[in-house]
Amino acid sequence: MDGGIWVVGEIRGEKIEPVTLELLTRARDLCKKISSPLTAVLIGVDVEDHAGECMRFGAKKVIVVQDKVFSPFSETIYGRVLADLAKRWRPDIILSGATERAKAFMPISATLLETGLTANCMGLDVEPDTRTLLQTRPAYGGNLMATIVCRKARPQMATVRPGVFKARPVEGDVGGEVEAIELPDSILDNPFILEGFEEKAEAQGVPDYKNAKVVITAGRGVAEPGWIQSLQELAELMGGVLGATRPVVDMELLPRYAQIGQTGQIVSPRLYVGFGVSGAAPHTMGIQGAKIIVAINKDASAPIFNLATYGIQGDAKEIIPILVDRIKQEKGIN
Ligand code: FAD
Repeated sequence: MDGGIWVVGEIRGEKIEPVTLELLTRARDLCKKISSPLTAVLIGVDVEDHAGECMRFGAKKVIVVQDKVFSPFSETIYGRVLADLAKRWRPDIILSGATERAKAFMPISATLLETGLTANCMGLDVEPDTRTLLQTRPAYGGNLMATIVCRKARPQMATVRPGVFKARPVEGDVGGEVEAIELPDSILDNPFILEGFEEKAEAQGVPDYKNAKVVITAGRGVAEPGWIQSLQELAELMGGVLGATRPVVDMELLPRYAQIGQTGQIVSPRLYVGFGVSGAAPHTMGIQGAKIIVAINKDASAPIFNLATYGIQGDAKEIIPILVDRIKQEKGIN
C-alpha cells in the first residue's frame, strides 16, 4: 500500500494521548478529500491494545511495532523505526501531536527520509488534486498565520498542537486491520544509554489546562499580586484553573506554565473568562476552542470583544469582588 495519511499515535502510561484521537479525526476528513487510506502507527511496549481505539476514530489500518526496547523512550530508536516504516509503505503524509516526544523523534525521521517537517501546526488541509498538505502555523511572532507546503519531497510531515482539533469517533461500523511488524535488530540498537528520567520540579502540580472546563485568565489589566490571588480564588470556586497572558507571566505573578496562547497552553474549556486581557492574536490563538468566551475590559475597543460571546465593559477590579462574593453566597460559603 503506497500513499495515504499516517497518524503516529502516542501512548503515555496506559492511555492514548488525546491529540492522537484529535489528529485521527482531522486526518479522516482529509483522507476523504483525497480518497486515501488512513493508517495509525503505534510504536512502543504493549501498544497493540490501543489499535481498536484508533479504529474507532477512523484508522482503517494500524501498524504496530512492539518491543521492550521502546522503554525507556529513545527518540533515536523511534525516529529510525518510523523512517524505516515510511520507506517501506511510502505514505503521502505523516502527522503526529506536537508533544515533547514527537518533537524529539519526528525531526530524526524527517532527516532520515530527506523531507521537511512543519512543527506546531494549528491548521491542516489538503489540496485534492496534488495531495499537498496545507500546514498552517503562526509566523513572525504570531502576527500572521503562514500556510506551509512541501511541494516536492515526500512524505510531508507535520506536528500539530494538542487541543486544536476536536476528537470525534466514527459513527456506525468501525473496523480495520492490524499489521504487526518486526524490525531488524540493527534499527533497534540504541547508541545512547538512558539511565533514567527525573521529573522536572515545575512539572509537578501543574493544573490540567488541556481538559479544564473553566479557564479564568488574568491579563495585564489585573497584574497585581492581590488580584491574582482573588482570581485564583474565583477559579477554585468555579471548579476551574487560573491562566494568564504573557505579560503577567513575564512579571512572575504566575508560573510560566500558566501562560495561555500560541507559546503557552492551548485550552478548549466550556467557559473562558478574561479579566483585563486585550485579546492580542498570540493569546487568542490559545482559546479558539472555548465554547463561551467572556471578556471583561475597560476599553470598549479592545480586540477581545470581537471574539467574545459576552463582553462586559468595565473595571475588572470592581467586578472580581462582586463575582467572588456572589458565587460564595450561592454556594453558602462565608
Ligand atoms: P495588554 O495587551 O497590555 O492588555 C491589557 C488590557 O487590560 C487592555 O486591553 C486594557 O484596556 C485592559 N485593562 C487595564 N486595566 C483594566 C481594568 N482595571 N479592568 C479591565 N480591563 C483593564 N501572549 C499571550 O498571552 N500568550 C502567548 O502565548 C503569547 N505568545 C507570544 C509569542 C510571541 C512570539 C510574541 C511576540 C508575543 C506573544 N504574546 C503572547 C504576547 C502578546 O502579543 C500580547 O502582548 C499579550 O497577549 C498581551 O497581554 P494582555 O492582554 O494581558 O496585555
